[in-house]
This record gives sequence, C-alpha cells and structure tokens, in this order.
Amino acid sequence: MKLGCVADDLTGATDLALMLAREGLRTIQTIGVPHAGLDLSGADAVVVALKSRTIPPQQAIVQSLAAAKSLKNAGARNLFFKYCSTFDSTDEGNIGPVTEALLAFTGSALTLACPAFPANGRTVYKGHLFVNGVPLHESSMKDHPLTPMRDSNLVRVLQRQTKLSVGLVAFEDVDAGPDALRSTFKREEAAGHRIVIVDALSDTHLRTIGLAAADFPLITGGSGVAMGLPAAYRQREALAMDILPAGFEAPEGRSIILAGSCSNATRQQVETAIKAGIPALRIDPMDLASRAITAQTALDWLTAKQKQGPVLIYSTAAPEEVQAIQSKLGRMNAGEIVENTLAEIARSLPTLGFTRIIVAGGETSGAVVNALEVQALSIGPEIDPGVPWTRSLGGVDLALALKSGNFGGQDFFLKAWTMLR
Ligand code: ADP
Repeated sequence: MKLGCVADDLTGATDLALMLAREGLRTIQTIGVPHAGLDLSGADAVVVALKSRTIPPQQAIVQSLAAAKSLKNAGARNLFFKYCSTFDSTDEGNIGPVTEALLAFTGSALTLACPAFPANGRTVYKGHLFVNGVPLHESSMKDHPLTPMRDSNLVRVLQRQTKLSVGLVAFEDVDAGPDALRSTFKREEAAGHRIVIVDALSDTHLRTIGLAAADFPLITGGSGVAMGLPAAYRQREALAMDILPAGFEAPEGRSIILAGSCSNATRQQVETAIKAGIPALRIDPMDLASRAITAQTALDWLTAKQKQGPVLIYSTAAPEEVQAIQSKLGRMNAGEIVENTLAEIARSLPTLGFTRIIVAGGETSGAVVNALEVQALSIGPEIDPGVPWTRSLGGVDLALALKSGNFGGQDFFLKAWTMLR
C-alpha cells in the first residue's frame, strides 16, 4: 500500500478516495477504522473515514492514531491526513493537534499543510486561503455553525492550534518546480519549522507539491494536494498503473434507487426517472407518521415488482411540501422518520435480491450504509463529478453509488446502470 489516509469526515473521505482512484490508484474507503479481518492487500491506497472534525481534540487524536496504526500495520508506506479545503477547525483543533500526533507517530521532522483545490475555487496565496476568490474570513465560512472561520491567514490559524512552529512556503517557491521545492522544504526544516503551509494557485502547483513531497512520511491537506501523488509514485516506482476502466464489475442482481434527498438535482433526477417509466413508489413522511405506509408496504411493493430493470423508492418533495411537512412533524423528526424507513427497507434489500443500489442524499446514504452494515468500499469509476460506483467489501456483496443530493446530471438514475457489467 502506497498511501494510508485518515479523513476527518465521510464525504471528505469519498472525495479523496475518488481523487486517488481517478489518478490511477486502486483505492478502498473504510467506514471507520478497518476491522481486523478486512482484506486490504489489493489496494494502493486506503482512506479511513472518521467523524472527527469537531469532536474534542483528545478524542480526535485517539481515533486518528488508531486509524494510522491500522494503516501502517496493513503496509501503508506514507500517511495522509485529510481535512476540508476550507480548513474547517476551531482554535482548539483538530487540524493542529492531530497533525502533531501523527508527526510524532511517523517520527518525521516536517510535514506540509495545504487545503488548496483550485478546481473547486480554493486557492492559497502567501498563506491566505481564498474561497472562489474571496478571503476565507469573508466567505460564507465566517458563519459556519460549528467551525466559523474568521481568519484567512492559515499560518496564524494553525499556529493557534499547535505548539509546533508553523512556517510558510509561498507560491514563488512552488512555481520554481519540484527540485527547487524540495530544497525549500529542507530550508524550512533547518529553520526549525515542523509544519509548513504551502501555497497553491493551480493544478500545476498541486502536481509540483505531489512530486516534491511524495516521500514525506506524512502529508496533510485537502483532496487537491493528493492529486500529484499517484503520478509521483508512478515515477518513483516505474509503475504502470492503469487509469480505471469505464466499466465496473458488479454482483448479479436487481437494481434500486433510494432517494431521501430533496435537493434540486435529486428532484430533477426523480422526475426524469419517472418520465422514463421506472416504476416508482413515493413514501410521504405524513403517511409514515400516521403509519398509513410502513417499510413493509414498500417491501411488499418490491416483492410484487418482478419486472427486470431498476425501481425507485423516494421521499423527495418540493421545498413548499417539505416546509409544510416540517411544520407539522418538526424538521428533525420528519428527517428521522424518512431516514429510519429507508434504512429499514435497505436492510431487507439483499434478501429480496437487490445488489445494485443508488442512494441519493448525504444523510440518507449514511443511514443506508449503516443499515446494510457496509464496512468498506472499493472505489470504481466516476458516474458524474464527485460520485463513483463503489463495491462493498467484507460483508454483503453490493454495488453502491452514494450520491450527495445536489450532485449528478438529470439522467443520473438512468445512465449510472450502463456502467455496470
Ligand atoms: P442532501 O444530500 O440533499 O442534503 P440528505 O439525505 O443529506 O440529502 O438530507 C435530506 C434530509 O431530508 C434527510 O434527513 C431526509 O430524511 C429528509 N427528508 C427526505 N424527504 C423529506 C420530506 N419529504 N420531508 C421532509 N424531510 C425529508
């Protein structure tokens, strides 16, 4: 295994896993620290998804070290600590404390911190983070409910979170290319810095950083800075790693879409799927609350539908309807009723012969993956930006596409299946 990654949240982990897979590494994502029996031997990269962004620093350290140890035991050569490209953290942490702990664990003198992801509008210039051209502290991140970011100077932000000395490698040194950047890292290390914020304004900068830092025992950053690593490994090890083929092996079985997202993209996808003739069952939270409909109703419907081809179960509704429902049931309660029902339906899907599953919605995906007791996912080809096909590992054999609500084109629910073999 070339790279073992510890990610501080689930969707951030998928983001990184997809980046590595797209660049040619065979990548597995685990939900939490991998279980001892899980076979990771075929992977070039493993991404452990934690939920550690806003928990107390001591707990974040314990969980991150446990993940790092299991990755090292599974053969990881280098480690990567993944956080958000908006550097989401508080003055207590957890980026600083976890980086400190992982530096000590790897015994390395220097690491870098780079949240830049220019393709998504995140750039770092002279240590200041910009979000779509706006300094971080003026972006909507200033009002984030959990991690308000009120300082765009990342050297200052990180220095408040750690006793270790934080330095800066500005873009001129990155622009000078991989060899010059390696010398700059040595200079920073000699100056006594243990973590350096690294500027990046373009993908070329990210690839330069990848080449210069490929041998660092620990790298920290957003998924952008991982972009250059696979190419660097290929160069270092003269490896011929294939870019993932467009097709994807999936277990034989029936296909289903579970949509619990009410986001615009999902609403259009549901409408397009119904127009195209996909059999669809709507589950309305009011009916669920009154028990006019239960998970069993949906399971009976699925059992009766023996026709080949995908089927759709959805709670997706327009904003006015969602508001009306929330005013009657309460926001959290309405969400929970739907999530619990979709989870209960999901639990019975393998028994009914469903092995190919698309889930729409971030929270919904979490609930479904838990219900199916999925421990890990191998990352396959990208269906639409940010959404790969994945295959479950270590439990029931499933092909899963977990779609964040607003991702994917209108025909997502129609075209995704054509990639499966
Ligand atoms: P997204 O990725 O679009 O944000 P999520 O699954 O993360 O989707 O969140 C959608 C939330 O809305 C879930 O908690 C889901 O249970 C809830 N929900 C789904 N359908 C309805 C509905 N018709 N009325 C109210 N809440 C709903």
